[in-house]
Amino acid sequence: MAEVRTRIVIVGAGPAGLLLSHLLHLEGIESIVVDARTREDVESTIRAGILEQGTVELLVTSGASDGVLIDGARHDGIELRVDGVGHRIDFADLVGRGVWLYPQHEVLRDLIAARLRDGGDIRFETTVDDVLDPDSARPCVRARHNGEPIDIVAELVVGADGSHSVVRRAITDPSATGYFREYPFAWFGILCKAPPSAPELIYSSSERGFALISQRSATVQRMYLQCDPELDPTAMSDNQIWDELQARVAGTELREGPIFQRDVLRFRSFVASRLRRGRVLLVGDAAHTVPPTGAKGMNLAVADVLMLADAVRGLFAGEGEGLLDAYAERALQRVWRAQHFSWWMTSMLHAAPDATEFDTRRRLAELDTLTASRAGRSYLAEAYTGWPLPGRERCSG
Ligand SMILES: Cc1cc2nc3c(=O)[nH]c(=O)nc-3n(C[C@H](O)[C@H](O)[C@H](O)COP(=O)(O)OP(=O)(O)OC[C@H]3O[C@@H](n4cnc5c(N)ncnc54)[C@H](O)[C@@H]3O)c2cc1C
Repeated sequence: MAEVRTRIVIVGAGPAGLLLSHLLHLEGIESIVVDARTREDVESTIRAGILEQGTVELLVTSGASDGVLIDGARHDGIELRVDGVGHRIDFADLVGRGVWLYPQHEVLRDLIAARLRDGGDIRFETTVDDVLDPDSARPCVRARHNGEPIDIVAELVVGADGSHSVVRRAITDPSATGYFREYPFAWFGILCKAPPSAPELIYSSSERGFALISQRSATVQRMYLQCDPELDPTAMSDNQIWDELQARVAGTELREGPIFQRDVLRFRSFVASRLRRGRVLLVGDAAHTVPPTGAKGMNLAVADVLMLADAVRGLFAGEGEGLLDAYAERALQRVWRAQHFSWWMTSMLHAAPDATEFDTRRRLAELDTLTASRAGRSYLAEAYTGWPLPGRERCSG
């Protein structure tokens, strides 16, 4: 069995793992990143699109990506549409901040390019099966590459391996992996070739269910319909999809085009019961999952990574384990805030299939209160654009 040694082994070349490796490199700390997928697969991951202002500032100032400033689009607001009536949430006016539309696969391309430019060690097509000796000073990741087993021994193991994390199994008790909630609806998402239908994203709550008119670029758009989690993505014809989207977004004529990707995305909220065991830690989706309505998942991963990179820096600079000990508590404070925001946006905007008439009227009253109140709109704007990242409060505003 081949054995490799490094300071930090990071499982997962998603946004969390790659950014952590980049930030550690800036502190002079070597790491190896392993991912089960090919580089091409990783670079074509179609997922997140909304980056908080703090995420963008970190990507740019750390030298990880300036593509977001060149090809990304700054958005200073969103529209909440309730039964055909639009209400603009003006981020710039309410909180003096904004978000950027920049697809996750572009972030991944930028991060991989930055790591390779700096001589980083990323091992694609390397699948981790187990973490050994998590409580020792030299934990080990057991992996396979081209069918050959390989052990990577390190001073720290970081699980950045997404929501089906293997590393999490080495940290949490099987009978209490974490706190979990599943929702009785999902999103049916499409990608289509068309120009944008509106200057900003439209979050539309209607009697027929929720729809989100999102964007990707000048020529490709992303749109979602609330649906049953069991929906077969091939069950609706293109015309049925456009008719349903249009019916749920009354008031804006949608610009249609060929649909070239469809998927059904289940909604889950999850927080792992522990983020650390000895020398093994979790970041990003491995530690928590949020429903996508609040656009928080990747942004939370970035915040975790910033805190963990600081803790690792402290450890290797001889400052002891204080910051490492504090990592879970610091990260979880933000995680639970984001869990609340994501749950709140989801519950407020979606018609639950088992909702009573009382539930529906209460939900509409909540939307009415929110849109009519500057304080309500300000909370949404503050949470959506992102709370300041730890240690970077000066960058905000
Ligand atoms: C439709 C959709 C829309 C979204 N929109 C937004 C948004 O607008 N804003 C936002 O902030 N977030 C959004 N998110 C969430 C965001 O995509 C995730 O939170 C983000 O990808 C988490 O990054 P990560 O690095 O923690 O995990 P991942 O991106 O899941 O990366 C994990 C990596 O680990 C690898 N891996 C897994 N298991 C193993 C193993 N055993 N061995 C080796 N490698 C392994 C995987 O191949 C993968 O590359 C959205 C998600 C979806 C699905």
